[in-house]
Amino acid sequence: MAFIADTLSRVKPSATISVTQKARDLKAQGRNIISLSVGEPDFDTPDNIKQAAIEAIQRGETKYPPVSGIVPLREAIAAKFKRENGLDYKPTQTIVCTGGKQVLFNAFLATLNPGDEVVIPAPYWVSYPDMVLLTGGTPVVVQTTMAHGFKLQAEDLERAITPRTKWVLLNSPSNPSGAAYTEAELKAVTDVLMRYPDVWVLTDDMYEHLVYGDFVFTTPAQIEPNLMDRTLTMNGVSKSYAMTGWRIGYAAGPEKLIKAMDMVQGQQTSGACTISQWASVEALNGPQHFIAERRNAFEVRRDLVVSMLNQAKDLVCPSPEGAFYVYPSCAGTIGKTAPSGKRIENDEDFVSELLEAEGVAAVHGAAFGSGPNFRISYATSNALLEEACAKIQRFTASLR
Ligand code: PLP
Repeated sequence: MAFIADTLSRVKPSATISVTQKARDLKAQGRNIISLSVGEPDFDTPDNIKQAAIEAIQRGETKYPPVSGIVPLREAIAAKFKRENGLDYKPTQTIVCTGGKQVLFNAFLATLNPGDEVVIPAPYWVSYPDMVLLTGGTPVVVQTTMAHGFKLQAEDLERAITPRTKWVLLNSPSNPSGAAYTEAELKAVTDVLMRYPDVWVLTDDMYEHLVYGDFVFTTPAQIEPNLMDRTLTMNGVSKSYAMTGWRIGYAAGPEKLIKAMDMVQGQQTSGACTISQWASVEALNGPQHFIAERRNAFEVRRDLVVSMLNQAKDLVCPSPEGAFYVYPSCAGTIGKTAPSGKRIENDEDFVSELLEAEGVAAVHGAAFGSGPNFRISYATSNALLEEACAKIQRFTASLR
């Protein structure tokens, strides 16, 4: 009898973490490696937020929290949804979890029965399908195309919905494509959802604050208030406030769902770290000016990377609306031969030969369910991005 549970044989380790590890190993061997594979801002957590955590420790806020989160944070979350998204959620309709990741896990554990389906547009964040599998559901992947800006089309969504569909999972701006839905694009999706009253929508708005130019962020419950009673609006402090290590994510939705998620969390972590929760109160209620400053820095980097990658032979790089990723196509390199003598058959070969030849680490599109593309995270300095893109240009020019 196998000791490890059968469920685990259906999931795979996070490809982004494996690539980051491979880059680390090569660095340890003395190679000069530029890693463009990480999914976190290179900025530090702002000082006022750190200070709030220090003060919480000193005040003795070090005991078990209420399972769904400390009241001041649930109030700050409700206020954030009102202020930034025009959404009316009561604090009792919110939940604080150990990262956005746990929001998703709680929601799936609380709702999925074996065979229940979750519609996931591809390219998707690596963890979505595996989370659905781990919690007993069935991921239903719907392909999007570069021509449609990697956004889910109404007719494709409609075709994917079955009597077993429990959730549609939306992520805008997207990891890995950076694509963000305009109000009209989102409305086309919510119009379909209005025709299926048993289908719920889980919207991962993690990258809300990272949108560029005059793009305006919107979320499904805002576009279609009639969906409020079957929408879980998820967000977190990891990306907006450079707080990935603090592990705080949150969500708001109908009270019956929040209560079910509270039950799951109560048997799991008993709630998120109190000190991180107090830091998050300051993040949400405190000064917000650095968000715009950092967004501007990211926008300059996006433009730099998009421009340099479009100058690379055989690559096509759309300019995404948000997040800190680009998702160029490497279709033009398929069938060519790398300096090592290996023929490039797919995007995994492309990133692996790129790492070997030039020491630049990116993540292959297959990990995100869609290719041939690769993901580059531009959450690093302009100097490193320029060097990395020059190396990518040299690599694609060297293919025969
Ligand atoms: N959702 C998306 C799309 C992400 O990219 C990430 C992190 O990479 C998360 C959720 C999880 O964030 P957290 O750090 O809050 O668990």
